[in-house]
Amino acid sequence: MTETGIVYLLHFARPLGGRASHYLGLSTLDGLVERIAAHRHGRGAKITAAANREGIEYELVRTWPGGRALERRLKAAANAARWCPICRPGFLRRDAARVAGYTARRRAPAEYPPLSSPLEVA
Ligand SMILES: [Zn+2]
Repeated sequence: MTETGIVYLLHFARPLGGRASHYLGLSTLDGLVERIAAHRHGRGAKITAAANREGIEYELVRTWPGGRALERRLKAAANAARWCPICRPGFLRRDAARVAGYTARRRAPAEYPPLSSPLEVA
């Protein structure tokens, strides 16, 4: 796959195994609908297959134009809630509380990418 594609975020209606609430994946723009269908049929990823088995609903909440590099960067940031339109308000509240507890010697957190994107799926 080339570096041009779509990084997409799935939000789970309830956490899988009490923890995972999101899945971040990579697709091509043309292949995105098929990719989501593959998740629905248990062929997308282990985590979405497990969600299917447990009856956990999930939905596509956000996309970004980008490739593997962006997917890796977002996955490395670990907490997808910050980019999820559904979870972001709660994430920001928790993050503000966390930042308020920072000691002066610690570095301020990096800016988060803007929530809006021309390819965003509402
Ligand atoms: Zn979410």
